[in-house]
Amino acid sequence: MTRSRALVLKILEGAAEPLSAAGVYALVDGACDQATVYRSLAYLEGAGLAESFVMHCDAHGTERYYSSEKLGHRHWFHCSSCHRFVDIGACRLGPLVGELEAERGLRIERHALYLSGLCADCAGRVGGSDASVGSPGHDHACGGTSG
Ligand SMILES: [Zn+2]
Ligand SMILES: [Zn+2]
Ligand SMILES: [Zn+2]
Repeated sequence: MTRSRALVLKILEGAAEPLSAAGVYALVDGACDQATVYRSLAYLEGAGLAESFVMHCDAHGTERYYSSEKLGHRHWFHCSSCHRFVDIGACRLGPLVGELEAERGLRIERHALYLSGLCADCAGRVGGSDASVGSPGHDHACGGTSG
């Protein structure tokens, strides 16, 4: 494996969440150019060392995200408010895939899935009743405002 491929793989393995090519490029710290990062990611995926999915987020567009195969095949949740990925664990779609294969005579070799919405923290901030978050637009008179 070339040095740049090994470096890109190391970055994916050390990452706590899937990274876009731009995200990997930001971490190679000038060790290789962006085209090399793209090629290395494609190589690693082809070699079964990484997997990827395409995700759209209104805030930062449509991108392909890569993660190390070392984690095992899994899926991710993306928060559309704070833009972090939450690991939702090992894939649970095996039984469904098996059913579809049997039902339709397909041979399903891969699938991709992401879920998005609000993470627990962000959902709590929006809906929580006793969360002590001050609302800036709060303008009723609280006691002794002299006028
Ligand atoms: Zn969030
Ligand atoms: Zn996002
Ligand atoms: Zn899966």
